Amino acid sequence: MKGLFFPATMQMEFRTIPDPAPAAGEVVVDVKAASLCGSDLHNLHSAHPNESVVMGHEGAGVVSAVGSGVTGVRVGDRVALYHVIGCGRCQNCMSGYMQFCTEDRRARAGAAHGVFADKVLVREANCLPLPQEVSFAVGAFIGCFAGTSYSALKKLQLNGENTVAVFGLGPVGLAGVAYAHALGATVIGIDGIAERLSLGKTMGCDAVVNFRKEDVVERLKQLTDGRGPDRVYESSGSLVAQKQALEAAAVHGQICMVGFNGPMSQKADSAPSLYAAIGKELTLFGSSIMPRQDHFAILDLIRKKHVDLEAMITHRFPFDQIQEAIRLFDTGKTGKIVIDF
Ligand SMILES: [Zn+2]
Ligand SMILES: [Zn+2]
Repeated sequence: MKGLFFPATMQMEFRTIPDPAPAAGEVVVDVKAASLCGSDLHNLHSAHPNESVVMGHEGAGVVSAVGSGVTGVRVGDRVALYHVIGCGRCQNCMSGYMQFCTEDRRARAGAAHGVFADKVLVREANCLPLPQEVSFAVGAFIGCFAGTSYSALKKLQLNGENTVAVFGLGPVGLAGVAYAHALGATVIGIDGIAERLSLGKTMGCDAVVNFRKEDVVERLKQLTDGRGPDRVYESSGSLVAQKQALEAAAVHGQICMVGFNGPMSQKADSAPSLYAAIGKELTLFGSSIMPRQDHFAILDLIRKKHVDLEAMITHRFPFDQIQEAIRLFDTGKTGKIVIDF
């Protein structure tokens, strides 16, 4: 089969490797859709990319072979792929939180072959059932950023009485906008790029704020009768945004932070102070990836509340043009790019 490797910094190449064969507890999935993620670009730009594994971690497909002892999935099943691989036996793994595995935590396209290939070998535990009415592209999203986004957002327990400010309208922020809108909250999106603000409106923002043109804290207060948003979802990873989130949040507000290493994180004078959390009795949450079981709540939102994650796809390419797709994605001027197999 064919797989895409990053042999050195900014280099990509297809290699032919043997088709995977499932051992006990393992499953081979024929990849039907994969999507490009910011971390693929981190690998591409890395001084030392892992040149020995197939790249890509957002994928979905159809089970084509199962090893002995596999009882949860069958040949022909449609599956989304949860991208973190845990030991399956430690307390965190058994609770569904494989991202916090303490024994043998690995990630696809890090220590294991990824999904930019015709087939991928996974553990049974990494197969999330994908109903017929949910596309393979959306399945690929759920296994990574759309799951990360839901897991963060659910901590804020949104309903129709809430106004949530979403900092950062990249994929994690945009999925959050779609979920928050579906849950009935009033949504204010914040970003500095016109295309993202426009996509924010498409995905469900009631108002948007351009941080390059407006005073974010002032504007958020104006939009909430001076109180500030009672919920804040920080997906940008910018220290400036974290600071603004703390300053803007309403008394007794709740803030969930999921972004890290954002582009403006290096500005030392922007480090947020937690005094606002004391003075306003704020509640702060952190969130990292998602517990596997959140998959089912996301499917419910997609099917029952018409959350359209495909609206953030701007380009699709066939697998043999994936290098061109990655170069385009690297310009930073696209939404999600999906690779079809
Ligand atoms: Zn990803
Ligand atoms: Zn574990």
